Order: sequence, then structure tokens, then C-alpha cells
Amino acid sequence: MVVTALPSPSEERRLALVPPAIKRLRTLGHEVRVPAGYGTPLGVSDAELEEAGAVIVAAEDAMAEADVAVVVQPPTPAALAGLRPGTFVLGFLDPFFALPTVRALVEGQLRGMCVELMPRSTYAQKMDALSSQASLAGYVAVVLAAQRIDKVLPMMSTPAGTIAPARVFVLGVGVAGLQAIATAKRMGARVDAYDTRPVVAEQVRSLGARFVEFDLGGDQGQTDQGYAKALSEEQLARQREQMAKIVAQSDVVITTAQVFGRTAPRLLDAAAIGGMKPGSVVVDLAASTGGNVEGTVAGREVVTDNGVRIIGLHPLPASVARDASLMYAANVVHLIEHAWHDGVLRSPSEDGIVDAVLLTDDGAVRNEHVRERLEASA
Ligand code: NAD
Repeated sequence: MVVTALPSPSEERRLALVPPAIKRLRTLGHEVRVPAGYGTPLGVSDAELEEAGAVIVAAEDAMAEADVAVVVQPPTPAALAGLRPGTFVLGFLDPFFALPTVRALVEGQLRGMCVELMPRSTYAQKMDALSSQASLAGYVAVVLAAQRIDKVLPMMSTPAGTIAPARVFVLGVGVAGLQAIATAKRMGARVDAYDTRPVVAEQVRSLGARFVEFDLGGDQGQTDQGYAKALSEEQLARQREQMAKIVAQSDVVITTAQVFGRTAPRLLDAAAIGGMKPGSVVVDLAASTGGNVEGTVAGREVVTDNGVRIIGLHPLPASVARDASLMYAANVVHLIEHAWHDGVLRSPSEDGIVDAVLLTDDGAVRNEHVRERLEASA
């Protein structure tokens, strides 16, 4: 097969293919093409990509002969225009929100292979790009907060006096939250965490953090896929009310709460932010799906009237683009390795992973929830 990397938007520093992944694809017998200058955002030269086995082509030529086009971010409809019908487009496709992309895939008879829809099974872990990138996002969130806050994270006993450790509150303990807790603990902070899925309490404690409990009433817990169930408006209001005290006591709040396929739940309102100390920092990892925090501006940092900095920068893994690309490209190659056999895609009826990630085929959306979303937006 011809595996081609599509150019990323100019602000994106991550790459879908890096030299180790290119070498692996070549070993598997695939041809790899990348547009000239593809590695520039990461400081990877055309010569290095060529040495790994890629053919450097003009951007237009990269499109026309691709069998599989790999991406880091959902391509715009215009970016898909040069692909032949039947081409696979593999990567982050943001299926619930980037509806113009989904529509363009359908109309162009393109076959979207959407990594966000990867099953959360042990076997699929090596192909799970949501996890690899979320883990880095959790790490970056803490590093960013440590840089921005006006105090140190660890306790320090010095002749000039003792400084208490910073208090970090992690809200949402999935992959990103766990990594944020581990990073903040390593940096010496005192860490509290909360998630609506009680099952994560043990994981929080095993990292040396405190799991706080709130009584929200009604049904909580998780879906068969391990994702959080959406809370009712009433439960969310109870959560906000009960969290107010711990939020006010925290120097750093990192919010990672997501409900798969929906806009992020609003967990911190203006009153909660108003109760925080001046100089404290909130990192909203849900900024791109609406934000967990009132006042988050996606892609920006803002300082509120009472001096609280709210960070809505995204995608955070792009700030550690070298490792993020290594991990993402490895996920992509593992998926290609799994999903195709002798250049033929495994049948969705026989393979659960292909069935889950194959978003569009034959000019139609295969995933029921995405299809409903697309129809509702028409
Ligand atoms: P996610 O990004 O969908 O959500 C982040 C966290 O926010 C979740 O833990 C969720 O419970 C939490 N959340 C939602 N609403 C909340 C609220 N109102 N208040 C507080 N927290 C709230 O989650 P994720 O990181 O993708 O992980 C989802 C699950 O999948 C986790 O259990 C994770 O361990 C599991 N997982 C399994 C595998 C695997 O086995 N291959 C891989 C990755 C993740």
C-alpha cells in the first residue's frame, strides 16, 4: 500500500509519521510518501525522512496516489479534495465535532479510520492514540501550571522558613488525570482528585493522592467502554456546590472531565473561580470540547479579575511534539499493521477494532452516534 502523510495545519507541530514509524512501514512492505518539508515543525529534515525509507513528493502528488492518508488533526474538507474515492484517511478525525470533515469524507467516498473510536481494550492499547496523547497532556498540564503559578510545588524547609507544598486538585481521573496526579506528586505537591467513577479511587490512592468523595445522588458510574456516564443538570449542580471548598483551597486545579461524544461538563463556574486565591492557576484540558471551566477561552490563557489564570491552550501534547509524534506514529503503525492483511482491510464483521474505527465507508457514516449528529446538523 502507499501510505502518505497529509500536511498538518501550520500551528500543529506533531507529525503522524516519524523515522522509526516509516522504517516499520517499509519493513511491512508499504511505500511511504511525505510532502517536501513535512518534518520541518519538528526539525526533521527531508534527508532524514528519506533515509528512513520515505519518498519525498510535492504536496499535490502526495494526495493523488495514496491508499492510506495519515493525519494528526481532522483535515479540512479542502485538504481532502485531492484524494481518490476509496482512499483511507486515518488519524484523529474528531467525529462528534468536526462534522464538515465527516461530511467531506462521506461525499468524497473516502474511508475514515478514526482513532478516537478505538476500543479501550488491553489488546488495543498499542493503537490507542487518545491514551498516548492524553497521558502527555496530563503531564504538560502540571508542568505548565508549575511555570505559571507564583509559588513552588514542593514543601521547602529552608533557614528562611518553611514553605507549605502547593495544593493541586485534579478533576477527572482518566488517562490524563492519572498522569497529572503522578506528575504533581513527583514535583512534591499535595494532590487531591475526584472523578464520578468511584472505580478510580484506588488508582488515585495508589499514586499517593487523596480521593475526595461527594454525594451527587442518582446514577453515576461508567459505560461498558469505561467512559463516564453523563450526569444530570441537578447532579452537576450538586457537584459544583460540594467542590467549592476544595477548589478555593487549591493553588492549581487541573480539569480533565470528558463524557465521550459530548461537550465537556461544566464543573467550575464563575463563583468557584471567584473563590480561588489570586495567583492560582486552572488548566482546562477539556478546552477544545467546550471546557470544564466558565471563562476558559480555547487556545488562550486568560487572567480573571480576581487574578486567577485559566489556561485553555490545546492540544497540549503539541508542546512536547517530539515524544507526542513518536507515540502517535507508533499508534498509527500498529493500527495499520493490525487492520490490513496483505494490503486488504480486515472485514469489520470479523474484526472488532476495524468495526469500531471505520467511521465512513461506501459514502455513509457507519457509527450510529456520529450519523445521528451529522443528520441533526444538516
Ligand atoms: P475521558 O477523557 O473520556 O474522561 C476523563 C475523565 O473525566 C474520566 O475519568 C471521566 O470519568 C471523568 N469525568 C466525566 N465527568 C466528570 C465529572 N462530572 N466530574 C469528574 N470527572 C468526570 O477518559 P479517558 O481518559 O479516555 O478514560 C476513560 C476510561 O477508559 C478510563 O477508565 C480509562 O482507565 C479507560 N481506558 C482503558 C484503556 C484500555 O484498557 N486500553 C485505555 C485507555 C483508557
